[in-house]
Amino acid sequence: MTAFQRRLLPDRQPAAQRARQMRDPGFGRVFSEHMVTARYDAGQGWHDAAVVPFGPVELSPASAVLHYAQAVFEGLKAYEQPDGSVAAFRPQANAERLRASAARLAIPELPEGFFLESIRELVAADRDWVPAHGGQESLYLRPLVFADDPSLAVRPSHGYRFLLIASVAGDYFAGGLAPVTVWLSTELSRAAPGGTGAVKCAGNYAGSLLAQAEAQARGCDQVVWLDPVEHCWVEEMGGMNLFFVEREGGRTRLVTPALTGTLLPGVTRDAILCLARELGAQAQERAVSVAEWESGCRAGRIVESFACGTAAVVTPVGAVRHADGGWRVGDGGPGPLTLAVRQRLLDIQRGLAADPHGWMVPVG
Ligand SMILES: *Cc1c(COP(=O)(O)O)cnc(C)c1O
Repeated sequence: MTAFQRRLLPDRQPAAQRARQMRDPGFGRVFSEHMVTARYDAGQGWHDAAVVPFGPVELSPASAVLHYAQAVFEGLKAYEQPDGSVAAFRPQANAERLRASAARLAIPELPEGFFLESIRELVAADRDWVPAHGGQESLYLRPLVFADDPSLAVRPSHGYRFLLIASVAGDYFAGGLAPVTVWLSTELSRAAPGGTGAVKCAGNYAGSLLAQAEAQARGCDQVVWLDPVEHCWVEEMGGMNLFFVEREGGRTRLVTPALTGTLLPGVTRDAILCLARELGAQAQERAVSVAEWESGCRAGRIVESFACGTAAVVTPVGAVRHADGGWRVGDGGPGPLTLAVRQRLLDIQRGLAADPHGWMVPVG
């Protein structure tokens, strides 16, 4: 891997124009001015890494990714720290997951060193796009790798592209911290044993959009996926992992579905399992059935539920619905442990709380 070339814009956007775009950015629609590109070719490995102006990429209409979806991606956030530096949350975990995702899709692995360097290069070029310290805004980083052989042959591509783009991220859900109502998908499945459910590939999302649309048509915000065999075990939300807060005999326990191979091992999920103890709760990974979720809520044993992921961090689940009914979680509002977990994570990410695990990695 050779050094990154820098072909930067001679003129940047005026500060006022940038500031206008960074106000209320929502999620995934305001992009910084540069991106990182690199190529992989059989025999050459990864090469031609460069920071270039953000803009369209040219593809052959026969590009393998457009036909057979050989594409994997990641998502992580960088925050300005109190001292003005920029740090990313656990980027090595994302590098490792991208490696696992690539391996599952027969895509050549991207070295961790290159992954981290590409982030440092982009943050250096677009430092002005990192939101100022103190708020909840961040710079969302989206690395992706896709097959670009101009060939309709069904086989692993010989050529690939790596792109890293950055987007100013505000609230992922329009409602901010408002609890979401979720819809249980009892017919459609997101992933199957032996499939790709445990890796972050583009195709998983394509297959989930219909159920998400169905959830919204039923007046819900998000779909919750169940296991693909019995449709009775809770898996995840399709872009976020789920947690349940159990209270029993004065003890509080954070429970999340175990990694069965059909749900995604979220970096946020992993961090929360780690934080639970520090917040005075136990943590448990195990199977949780829909029946347990419902009876637990009705009996007051499950007092909170929340979803977690990089983009939205922590989102309370206020109510659950399915074809035959539904139930409320707690009093329907965000619960105290949900709020505490969210605050602790955000504080670590913004450098406002101690970071004993070394999760924040300087990137600029
Ligand atoms: C990315 C993703 C998550 C959340 O993972 P984080 O690493 O916490 O952002 C959960 N489920 C799916 C399907 C995902 O793609």
